Amino acid sequence: MTLNPSSLEPAALLSKSEFLSFRECPKDLWLRLRKPTVVPRSPPSDYDRLLMEDGYAVEAIALDLLRTRPDAERFEFQVTISDGRCLIRVDALRRNSDGSIDLYEVKSSSSPEDHLVDACFQAIVAARAGLIVRSVRVVHVDADYRLDGELDPSRFLAFAEVDEELEAIRKEVEAEIDEALGLLAMGEIDERGCRCLLRTASRRCASFHHLNPEIPVPSAHLLPRISSPRLARLADEGRLAIADMLHDDVTPSQLDTFEALRTGQPVVRTEEVKAFLSSLRYPLHFYDYETAAGAVPMARGHGPHQQIPVQFSCHVLHADGSLEHREFLGDGHGMEEALVDRLKAAIGTTGSAIVWNQTFEKSCNRRMAELLPRHAGFLKDLNDRTADLMLPFRKGYVHPAFEGSASIKKILPVVCPDLEYDEDSVHNGTGAILAFREMVTSDETEERERLLKELRAYCHLDTLAMVRLHEFLLNLAAP
Ligand code: SF4
Repeated sequence: MTLNPSSLEPAALLSKSEFLSFRECPKDLWLRLRKPTVVPRSPPSDYDRLLMEDGYAVEAIALDLLRTRPDAERFEFQVTISDGRCLIRVDALRRNSDGSIDLYEVKSSSSPEDHLVDACFQAIVAARAGLIVRSVRVVHVDADYRLDGELDPSRFLAFAEVDEELEAIRKEVEAEIDEALGLLAMGEIDERGCRCLLRTASRRCASFHHLNPEIPVPSAHLLPRISSPRLARLADEGRLAIADMLHDDVTPSQLDTFEALRTGQPVVRTEEVKAFLSSLRYPLHFYDYETAAGAVPMARGHGPHQQIPVQFSCHVLHADGSLEHREFLGDGHGMEEALVDRLKAAIGTTGSAIVWNQTFEKSCNRRMAELLPRHAGFLKDLNDRTADLMLPFRKGYVHPAFEGSASIKKILPVVCPDLEYDEDSVHNGTGAILAFREMVTSDETEERERLLKELRAYCHLDTLAMVRLHEFLLNLAAP
């Protein structure tokens, strides 16, 4: 049965994304659909927008590829199907001569195994709608593909037949669909408590405070990597409040956060701060990359989802206290050679390179070394000279307002409240990826200029923030 969605009652039909949300958390889905006004919902984040853009881009490539096949006339695209209780939109559907159909589910990821439940939902709803589903394929990007000139869709995409895998999970998914439909038919649910009561605060969704209004502030949830059994024990004993906890309740790595939250005062370990500062060599190069990353590679040698730098900002602090700023921002994809040339001039061969959360910059450097063998020595040396400014804020200075986090977005407002990210402009790495893409494709000079300015300002602030945080540490370690 193929239906026009406009003739349906969308609220009464369970969509695939709602089913996946149900699997994540039934209570949150019920609140979202049945009591949409009790929990304020944020608009899609930059990360959501990035995923959507990538999804549309890969889908367009996949459908174009199917349209070029010899059996293209057998295909229908973006078909809406309902069994009267659930609603699916199939990316591509092939009608076979025996009356059966094959379903094609397009994904922008490179892991078809992550999408078996989605694909199974599609197959079950199609079958319940009276269609004979012969086969299901997940069309995904090939992680090993490297762009070499024009994109070759037949090498960029891979078709995974997942029939056996779907058969193995089919009964379980059928039961879950019925469970989700049963839940959404309920007029009320128990709105007291939820699973995240026994998880760290980072796992919470917007419904948490509605479901758990009595959570004390600050609570044990703020302790880094606190385990579920420990939270369960504290909840049972009515001791989730930090004020009710004892030193025996925390691990050594949680101790400083616990002390800071318990006393309301920062915990300062001057020896740790001094050890970090004495490991640095002047001139100090505070640097940060912004990258272009997406499912569809945009320049020669690039692969799907690879984070390739397109921009850097570098503040250079000399031993005499003077500060210089150097930067690079490409105006198109694939400019890493020019970027590294400029970086070499900015960073040179002496002095420490300082970043926030070294895993990211170091992995970018390794990726660029593969792309640009002639710069591999410099990039390896850069990684060897890299120090992570986040570390002393994990072990040397822990403020209660950090709330157990070592994110620069949490630390900067506490330590340098005069430095602020502009929420109405580019203010995070994902937003920078989106702004860069927009800048590259925009035909309007004014719009490009505006985006270039925002990107420069954002990256500049990232490295200036590190300079100021370093200065803060120097003051902390001063006699
Ligand atoms: S905070 Fe509660 S409602 Fe939200 S995802 Fe966690 S368990 Fe579900």
